[in-house]
Amino acid sequence: MTPRIDLHTHSTASDGTLGPGELVHAAAGAGLDVVAITDHDTTAGWEPALRALPPGLRLVRGAELSCRWYGEQPPLPLHLLAYLFDPDHPELVAELARVRAARAERGERIVALLRADGIDVSWPEILAGASGGTVGRPHIAQALIRAGLVATTTEAFGPDWLGERYRLPKEDIDVFAAVRLVRAAGGVPVFAHPRATRRGRIAPDTLIAELAAAGLAGLEADHEDHSPAERAHVHGLAAELGLLVTGSSDFHGSHKTVRLGAFTTGPEAYERIVASSSGVTEVASG
Ligand code: AMP
Ligand code: ZN
Ligand code: FE
Ligand code: FE
Repeated sequence: MTPRIDLHTHSTASDGTLGPGELVHAAAGAGLDVVAITDHDTTAGWEPALRALPPGLRLVRGAELSCRWYGEQPPLPLHLLAYLFDPDHPELVAELARVRAARAERGERIVALLRADGIDVSWPEILAGASGGTVGRPHIAQALIRAGLVATTTEAFGPDWLGERYRLPKEDIDVFAAVRLVRAAGGVPVFAHPRATRRGRIAPDTLIAELAAAGLAGLEADHEDHSPAERAHVHGLAAELGLLVTGSSDFHGSHKTVRLGAFTTGPEAYERIVASSSGVTEVASG
């Protein structure tokens, strides 16, 4: 039987709702053979996920890096998945810490904007809700839900709230620097949901070609934010550029509706990721 491989999930180490240990158990329960933990800008979930790894499940340690492409004005925000990199690589460690600090600073400014409009949300309470993990807009969304201002996370990301009116940029990593840094740390960089629309903007194919030349290994094609036509386009582009293709759920627990294993990666792409990494190994329990 073909193994079921999901290479993009979030835990409470960032903006997911399951702890890393709960996440790997849920992955096994969902019938996955391989799961990657890819929290935003942190490796804090790696150890607890590893300790809780149930028999028969393989764990790929990774992260989703907040990046920006400075080739357009305003700079385009992008997400880069990074797999099996050395978590102690000093420059990468420093960049991740810098981005996490920038996230907290931005979150506090968003809350100040909300409060200036008379909306009663509390930054200390939102930080506490992130329980020490990488803080993000989904945590602010929960505060808006608690305050009865919106009903769902999706609504909180609408134009009246965090999607536009109360949306502020944060200091991310230059995407070319990120690709080089992940490679330098022995990791494998894969462009997350490259066709997802960012307020009407998408990453151009020319950028993806330049990133491929700079060391990008793959493209995440099969993702809920892509239409079937976009998935087909990304598959075609990957074939043209010699990049591997992944599919994944981008599971966030109850902060999103998508289920673990909703989209999956083929075994050849997975083997290519493992074979081209030299940071840490994938891990099987037992
Ligand atoms: P941030 O990292 O703080 O910029 O927040 C972005 C995160 O919010 C991403 O991880 C998304 O998964 C999540 N997100 C973005 N849009 C939505 C949405 N419409 N509904 C739920 N979650 C979303
Ligand atoms: Zn997220
Ligand atoms: Fe993402
Ligand atoms: Fe994600």
